[in-house]
Amino acid sequence: MPFTPFHFGPGLALKGIIGRHMSFSAFVVANVAIDIEPLYYMLRNDPPLHRELHTAIGAMLLAVGLMLLWLLLRAGISRWGGRYRQRWLRGLSSSTPWAVWLGLLLGCGTHIALDSLMHLDMAPYAPFAGGNPLTGWISIAQLQWACLMAGIAGLPMVYLRSE
Ligand SMILES: [Zn+2]
Repeated sequence: MPFTPFHFGPGLALKGIIGRHMSFSAFVVANVAIDIEPLYYMLRNDPPLHRELHTAIGAMLLAVGLMLLWLLLRAGISRWGGRYRQRWLRGLSSSTPWAVWLGLLLGCGTHIALDSLMHLDMAPYAPFAGGNPLTGWISIAQLQWACLMAGIAGLPMVYLRSE
């Protein structure tokens, strides 16, 4: 998506449905991390913008990498966190490892699914198949509206769950 926050709409809807079993922060981190790829190639003016991370396999490997990073960060802080250790750990441990993993997995998975609908330069099935057969199923405007609506529907559900 040219504007990453559109992805957060479906994330809010999923959070509203799944609740505490999914970390929304992990979902957001996954989406932002994955879009560093097109940003990098955009700044270098070096198309195609969507490469390895924007494939199903690349995105899943990114989810695994981010999960390992989260586990390492948590272990590192609990060992060397110093004065702010408790505060940092509280923030990091507000979700269970399973909720973080689900957030990362759904973040990466929905990112590839949604981006596949709009980016012609993607090859979501690489290295098994080239090209992107999913582009053009719906217009970019429809996709963005759907993401926005998902967010608007998800927000009250998330709010009600937090009550
Ligand atoms: Zn993307």
